[in-house]
Amino acid sequence: MRIALLSDIHANREALDACLAHVTRQGADRIAILGDIVGYGGDPVACTEIVAGLADEGAIVILGNHDEAVLRDEPDMNADALAAIRWTRGVLGQDHKRYLAGLPLTHRDGEMLLVHAGARHPGQWPYVNSPREAELSLSATDARLVFCGHTHMPVVFSLQPNGTCLPFVPVANQPVPLLRHRRWQAVIGSVGQPRDGSPAAAYAILDLGQGTLTQHRVPYDHQAAAARIRAAGLPERLASRLALGR
Ligand code: ZN
Repeated sequence: MRIALLSDIHANREALDACLAHVTRQGADRIAILGDIVGYGGDPVACTEIVAGLADEGAIVILGNHDEAVLRDEPDMNADALAAIRWTRGVLGQDHKRYLAGLPLTHRDGEMLLVHAGARHPGQWPYVNSPREAELSLSATDARLVFCGHTHMPVVFSLQPNGTCLPFVPVANQPVPLLRHRRWQAVIGSVGQPRDGSPAAAYAILDLGQGTLTQHRVPYDHQAAAARIRAAGLPERLASRLALGR
């Protein structure tokens, strides 16, 4: 079973289309969307509809904090994020909002747990950005493999039987063996707003048969996505950062 893990699409249709085309070429048995379908970007309607269509075909989809923020009165966010959330609220229809409102916070399947932020208090959206946070997340579940997004920074944490938790930045196209005697918390990079210095969209393929996780980077037309953000009148920083991957 090969599962394509896509997170933090952030209303970036160009990046989503490019990643889905890449997934098709790689071959995957299933797609999982780890939340934040909307927010920041200029095409929330298309992205919500594409994801809902994938779900109709069997994809797993879970809720992200930006998806939730669209449904809440006063989300606690920075000014740029909030501007995009308010705009998104105005362009999404009731059907789109109902779809987002129905998404679960987590998805458990065998030894795998999928969550947007972290497994400990998932609805409080913790940032898994250190070995300590990875340990806290893993301590909240008996799943051996936990996959999340939220930080937009790809990193794999391995928890050894002696309690040592080591971070590891995955290299594109190089499978990481998820050794069976360890537990793993992997942060999948962002499809629609990468922040690790590369503008290429990030996603990963989990191969449960081989026991590997492979990060992929997919160049896409980030200028077109930025133009859409500018056309929507959203903060310039949300457009310009796409070219920088920061
Ligand atoms: Zn995000």
